[in-house]
Amino acid sequence: MAGFYVKKMADNPITLKRPAVRRYLAPINTASTQQLFTDCLIIGAGIAGLRAAIEAAAGGCEVIITCKKTLEDSNTWHAQGGIASVLAEEDSFESHIEDTLTTGCGINDIDVVNEVVKDGPELIKQLIDWGTEFDKVKGKIDITREGGHSHPRIAHAQGDCTGRAIAQTLIKKVQKKSNISIVQNFFAIDLITNDDNECVGVIGQAANSQKQIIWAKTTILATGGAGKLYRETTNPETATADGLAMAVRAGAILRDMEFMQFHPTTLYIAGASRALITETLRGEGAVMLDVNGDKFMSAYHPDAELAPRDIVSRAILQQMLKTNSTHVFLDIRHFDKAHFAKRFPFINEIVTSFDIDISKDLIPVRPSAHYMVGGVKTDALANTSIKNLYTCGEIASTGLHGANRLGSNSLLEGLVFGKIAGTQAAQRSKKPNGPVGLRKFRIDIPESDRSRLDTSDVLNSLRSLMWRNVGIIRFAKPLAEAQEIISFWDRYVLDKVFDSPQGWECQNILTTSLMIAKAAEARTESRGTHFRDDFPESDDEKFKTHIEFV
Ligand SMILES: Cc1cc2nc3c(=O)[nH]c(=O)nc-3n(C[C@H](O)[C@H](O)[C@H](O)COP(=O)(O)OP(=O)(O)OC[C@H]3O[C@@H](n4cnc5c(N)ncnc54)[C@H](O)[C@@H]3O)c2cc1C
Repeated sequence: MAGFYVKKMADNPITLKRPAVRRYLAPINTASTQQLFTDCLIIGAGIAGLRAAIEAAAGGCEVIITCKKTLEDSNTWHAQGGIASVLAEEDSFESHIEDTLTTGCGINDIDVVNEVVKDGPELIKQLIDWGTEFDKVKGKIDITREGGHSHPRIAHAQGDCTGRAIAQTLIKKVQKKSNISIVQNFFAIDLITNDDNECVGVIGQAANSQKQIIWAKTTILATGGAGKLYRETTNPETATADGLAMAVRAGAILRDMEFMQFHPTTLYIAGASRALITETLRGEGAVMLDVNGDKFMSAYHPDAELAPRDIVSRAILQQMLKTNSTHVFLDIRHFDKAHFAKRFPFINEIVTSFDIDISKDLIPVRPSAHYMVGGVKTDALANTSIKNLYTCGEIASTGLHGANRLGSNSLLEGLVFGKIAGTQAAQRSKKPNGPVGLRKFRIDIPESDRSRLDTSDVLNSLRSLMWRNVGIIRFAKPLAEAQEIISFWDRYVLDKVFDSPQGWECQNILTTSLMIAKAAEARTESRGTHFRDDFPESDDEKFKTHIEFV
């Protein structure tokens, strides 16, 4: 790795005990279950999983890529603002690295930051060669700015539909490869490991509602984020932390779980879903006003509207409290209406559907859960602590983001680590004597004698609890209470056997929520996205490190 920037932090984490969970959620028996075999199994078809599939296939593997619903259901598909990379002559790798490190508040992995930043331009050029048409001005990629970036470096496509444009390119590429099989509507329930701590495949439920086992020499977990743990979120329905919980049950180390990034500006209209209003609007001049019509951001940070996301989110929350209101406003009345419609077609469609005329009306917004910074501990070669199990994308904690993610660095991370994971998995799958499944595999789970709670009720209450007690501004007592309440629900939900995704998702959400609350309680300082009102300062001596669940 390049390693041309500052010194690497010593890996001396604080460790917490992983939650006590049943190893497998569902009973299974090879004698009565359909089984598939492959070299490389990829769970998740967002930017990271798709990019990994292309690389693993190029490495000569038979690949199966699965997703829980269709190929269009992913966080990637919804990504708006763009992808960050050094694309302008005035910009430099050093500056992008510096911005990533500053936002990450001292706990990034320097080698990973160097690698991701330096690989960016080449992988974006490759996307262009494969067909992604980034928006252009005067024949050059139209790069814009977002908070925390000291230079314009955000490339966007189809206006504010960058994720969709990139996903379409990668999907087309994957569909053309004869050694990649795409399995949609496959709900991965649990990773299967053998006695040597090797991942050998996955148990899932196929589109026909039957259980299926996919045995694989290597498995890449690319299941994305966890926004659906919170009542207010920008994430689509699929982001239910399944991969994170599967990894915990399989014994992988998870870290940095306290770092959930809240996006400052989500459309706030009662009864409507929380559509993200991209940060690039602020990069291109949108101003924030409180309900009294007053500007407030410069009172919170010298960079005002372009301050890092965590600061803008907290500032909004504080201003909402000060003005006793449920939201603030984005003011883009000075934008050219025709240009806005072309540059931000998705947001234009949404605001228009609510009769908001941007030349006269303000856009009501408030923060919501957006990006899971923590995840499965993953090294620079996408390895996890389980053999033959790799991770990439939002589920992975590679150390790129530290305690906070710089805007538009996640699509970039998905591309870079997707490629790394695919390369590594292909090399590993070709080695002789790799695991090819277990001849006999049977899991029996005894009936629970506790009564059953309604999972929809639990999910609604849990999401509200996470928003209230484990949200943007945190204190010791609500964090402890959240754990107590989640543990109570756990007793009635985690010992049950479900046969449909809603039950498994509820179990996954409970397990992951508990880890977030535990880690947030343990980090008695404020850093990046994690803000403790009872410990508002950073404590470098004790906490300039990671918290890991082992
Ligand atoms: C509204 C919005 C806007 C964003 N804008 C930007 C932006 O402008 N720039 C940027 O860099 N980032 C942005 N992000 C973040 C970025 O989109 C994500 O971090 C990134 O796309 C994650 O990619 P991924 O491949 O890791 O996961 P995803 O794209 O979320 O894909 C996850 C995949 O895993 C599958 N999966 C999940 N659980 C299971 C299961 N149990 N079984 C089988 N399959 C499963 C899903 O079906 C899906 O295919 C945005 C996010 C959102 C929600």
